[in-house]
Amino acid sequence: MIHTKTNQILLLNPPGSKMYFRDYYCAKVSKAKYYYHPIDLVYLSGRLAEFGNIFVIDAIAEKLSKNECVNQVLNLNPNVIVFLSSAPSYAEDMTFIEAVKKELNHCKIIATGDVFRDFKENALTDNPFLNAILFDFSSDDILSYLKRTTNKIIPNIIYRSDNKLIIGKEKHGKGEWQVPTPQWEKFNLNAYHFPFAQRKPFASILTDFGCPYACDFCPVSTLGFKLRPIPDVIEELKKLKILGVKELYIRDQTFGVNKTRTHQLLDAMHESDLKFSFTALSRTDVLEDSLLIKMKKSGCHTLMIGIESANEEVLHKHKKTIKTSETYQSIKQIKKAGIKVGGFFMLGFPGETRDSVCATAKFARKLPIDYASFNIVSPRFGTEFRKNAIEMGIIETDHWETESSASKPIWKNQKFTNEELFKLKVKAVRKFYLRPSYILQRILTVRTWFEFKNLFDEGKALLIKNKKTK
Ligand code: SF4
Repeated sequence: MIHTKTNQILLLNPPGSKMYFRDYYCAKVSKAKYYYHPIDLVYLSGRLAEFGNIFVIDAIAEKLSKNECVNQVLNLNPNVIVFLSSAPSYAEDMTFIEAVKKELNHCKIIATGDVFRDFKENALTDNPFLNAILFDFSSDDILSYLKRTTNKIIPNIIYRSDNKLIIGKEKHGKGEWQVPTPQWEKFNLNAYHFPFAQRKPFASILTDFGCPYACDFCPVSTLGFKLRPIPDVIEELKKLKILGVKELYIRDQTFGVNKTRTHQLLDAMHESDLKFSFTALSRTDVLEDSLLIKMKKSGCHTLMIGIESANEEVLHKHKKTIKTSETYQSIKQIKKAGIKVGGFFMLGFPGETRDSVCATAKFARKLPIDYASFNIVSPRFGTEFRKNAIEMGIIETDHWETESSASKPIWKNQKFTNEELFKLKVKAVRKFYLRPSYILQRILTVRTWFEFKNLFDEGKALLIKNKKTK
């Protein structure tokens, strides 16, 4: 394909029967009404801008039906489509894309998403309408593929050429991550909602890619770890400011893990006087007082922390090397800095009993956290945990409904049934959020009407999705 500005490149988050998050190699389904930006497409928008005009359709955020989305795609008439898919949405995504390809036979179609990391060339064999699969949205391998003049092997890409498959291996880097500033103006910022946002509109950004830790259940642990140069991050933030963005969801998986660089980043944000408020994700064992104080000063109001389980033995078995005995103190430290805390919890690790699941739910209620996200352990694509679960015979390999929020457990031979596990999750959510002391505390900490409405809407939607079962 000739490199020309006349290329029309569509970045597509396809429509779906559920509010799928298909990005960052970790499929989920929205548990309430929130929906944030598909981060792969955000950073590909910057990368691919040198190859042509960028268009974005996020059919989930825009709530487009399949017909509406097809019509929009046909109107744009792109010659390249890069689309996201995921394990739980795979079947419906392939049906949708096949229908698009029938209408746009000339169009090159590139897929990306968690499901392909385990399915690889089989996905191309099974779906003849796909031209290529991309395994790392942070790299420039997609440009090498689009600009290629020979059938050379390109890392992180499997593609079809002259009826052959050219197979590039997954290769994730370390060190610096240079990526052009995303084409944020192509995204409809008002279509996205974030439960912790204090202001609107918000944007989801990355200041790094991957994670240096090795938790075996987490797909991000397999992606290497790269840091963006701070001036690049500031340039992106300046662009977002011009577009009217007030709030950020920093989706770095362990914000603060490189302390020196995080201090420098926060200083640069402060000096640029951009005045964003933000939420970030981190671990309890990387946040020290001086960093927390600086984060608060720079606009951080909420931290989401992967606490996962009350059972340290289970955590260490799965290479999450945090000490549960220190969790309470670490959270108190964050709260002391004036930052709210949300905890992620995982219920139903292999071999767990009903009592250990209930102990994790109880642990969550005892911690001084402001929000809790309970998720059923899920064998996510691309992880060592999934490989082990297959070897142990405790998951069906042809079960595609894997997603990290696991609204549908898929285990077999466990110490309780999937139905029981789901009920325990519902109970954990309801017991956490329906405590009178908790409700009162939440109301007292709300500062603006926007925050109140956001919390009310999301809380209501969360409880509807977690209705009491018999
Ligand atoms: S620290 Fe968090 S993001 Fe990193 S590997 Fe573990 S669970 Fe994944």
